[in-house]
Amino acid sequence: MPAKYIFLDMNAYFASVEQQLRPELRGRPVCVAPLEADTTFCIAASYEARFFGVKTGTRVRQARRQAPGLVVVTARPRVYVETHHRILRAVARVLPIEEVLSVDEMRFALMANERPRARALALELKAAIREEVGAWLRSSVGIAPNRYLAKVATELEKPDGLVEIRAADLPQALWPLALRDLYGIGRRMEARLQRHGIFTVRQLTGLSCKSMRRIWGGVLGERLWRSLRGEDLPLPPSRRRTVGHSHVLPPELRNPEGARKTLVRLLHAAAARLRRKGYWTRHLTVYATRLRAPAWVRKTWLETTQDTRLLLQTLTALWDSAPPADPFKVGLVLEHLVAERDTSPPLWPAARRGYRLARAIDRINALYGPGAIYFAAMHGLDYAGEDRIAFGEVPQIETALKPQPSRSSPTR
Ligand SMILES: [Mg+2]
Repeated sequence: MPAKYIFLDMNAYFASVEQQLRPELRGRPVCVAPLEADTTFCIAASYEARFFGVKTGTRVRQARRQAPGLVVVTARPRVYVETHHRILRAVARVLPIEEVLSVDEMRFALMANERPRARALALELKAAIREEVGAWLRSSVGIAPNRYLAKVATELEKPDGLVEIRAADLPQALWPLALRDLYGIGRRMEARLQRHGIFTVRQLTGLSCKSMRRIWGGVLGERLWRSLRGEDLPLPPSRRRTVGHSHVLPPELRNPEGARKTLVRLLHAAAARLRRKGYWTRHLTVYATRLRAPAWVRKTWLETTQDTRLLLQTLTALWDSAPPADPFKVGLVLEHLVAERDTSPPLWPAARRGYRLARAIDRINALYGPGAIYFAAMHGLDYAGEDRIAFGEVPQIETALKPQPSRSSPTR
């Protein structure tokens, strides 16, 4: 089994971005906190701070006691997202990105002819970030025969790591890890494993497939058993679901401004449906078809979100960069959906507010009808007939949303 995947995980991401942009912070213990208050928690710590035991989740007051000279920086989410996009542009010149997992994690799938050069390509990815974004931004890169182990490999060497897990080295290559280092083993699962007498990864890899199924209470245990052995399993079906809307423009709206307003309305409906279905999205595609020209398409990765406002800002930025002159039909698709149970609530107070606001709007519209309350960006569009148009759904996408029966669907 040759190396098929490369996973890239930025080290101490938020803290490193601050050190990259503010040279006076380099070499110093830095922690990033969401607010300017000693009662909040560090959401990132530089390696200099980690040396003193400060980590994500340490209370700021405690961190100050632990790390002499600690610099506490108030988080700048927008800057981290901008840097994230610069990183994506830099690495995409080396290899196409298969998936962006979070603001500091991405994965690449290697073609057959690229696999023998996996290590060289991994070094090129790191060099691209260093040269095009900044030398202070370091990453741990993992190479492995499957997606799961590629991510695990990034845990084996930090910071600035490069680790290849070869099928031939399994399972011994995993033994240095703690159970909790394995993705899919959280606090509760660790406790359950301990009740079964499993305290180390070495013991875990000694279990039979049947025992793992029993401990996990279903196919997730089997998935992990197979993943730990290097098997390249297909992605779980939730990754393929999408939410989308499209609309043929009436003649008076076949101009950039009319199309933009229609897209805003479609987005409003799509985001509400996303929340109703209990999903978060990580990717937005916006498109316009034209009568006498090829379709106009823009795509972007997002922070994992359900927030209409964040989606609107992204949509507007994509559209306004170079809107097509003669749109005929417009549409958008939210992809790479994450189920509610697989995501954590937003980190930033502002993002949490956006999320609560969106939920409140949904509830009001459910009570008083669609369009009872809406974003000002939509104002001026005739709301009559709205439910027939904007809230009508694209049939094939609706079908795609239905859960597909699959061997690998979680049973919990
Ligand atoms: Mg990271």
